[in-house]
Amino acid sequence: MIDVHAHFDDERFDEDRAEIISAMAEMPIRFILNSGSHIEACRRTLALADQYDFIYAAIGIYPHDTAILEEQGLGPIREMLKHKKVRAVGEIGLDYYYDMIPKATQQKWFHAQLEMAEEYHLPVVIHSRDAMQDTLSILKEHPKNTGIFHCYSGSAESLKEVLKLGFSISMGGVVTFKNARVAKEVAAAVPLDRLMLETDSPYLAPTPYRGKRNSSLYLPEIAKEIAAIRGMTPEEIERITDENAIRMFGFGEK
Ligand SMILES: [Zn+2]
Repeated sequence: MIDVHAHFDDERFDEDRAEIISAMAEMPIRFILNSGSHIEACRRTLALADQYDFIYAAIGIYPHDTAILEEQGLGPIREMLKHKKVRAVGEIGLDYYYDMIPKATQQKWFHAQLEMAEEYHLPVVIHSRDAMQDTLSILKEHPKNTGIFHCYSGSAESLKEVLKLGFSISMGGVVTFKNARVAKEVAAAVPLDRLMLETDSPYLAPTPYRGKRNSSLYLPEIAKEIAAIRGMTPEEIERITDENAIRMFGFGEK
């Protein structure tokens, strides 16, 4: 199984990081795409990628931290993108849920990081919260970019737009929640070649671990739920989503 979105650099793993990462390797979780969100998280993500063969890096600044880009620009991020285990620019995007950073600032740096990803020939990992229409219209201005909407939270209707742009989605713990009607609809509708699995650890642990600290150890719960929705076996879902992730991110290649 492959977890295409997690944050094992997070301080919630400071006490037992080595232990939990070796448990995941033994499970086995084949690959993890650990995602940066702010500058320090990106540095820690690269350190994990250096330390563990099966951990790869997504490097980028997410919408809530774009203020730092106003001060420093993308120079430090560009430096990090040269690392051989960086397989995506992310997570980047728009988040209108919290009113922390002006929309115009978020949009400016979303554009800039999409251009940077194109220049480095890397897919992008999109974070979009309460901002689906603006996210889609910005992506339409960058037709050469491809990638995933992580923790896809849009409707089955917006999913059509996402697919038309050539993007895939990854689904996490939310699909296992009892009242997650929309996520279950999306899981039923998404074409199998556009689906990947993620945990977003340490956030969004699936049922029956909801509310606890999440890790890739719980990834099977997500595969199980999607398999049940689609009338397939968890093994089939795992095999197909693994293939999709390897095709997009080149895990296992030098
Ligand atoms: Zn994330």
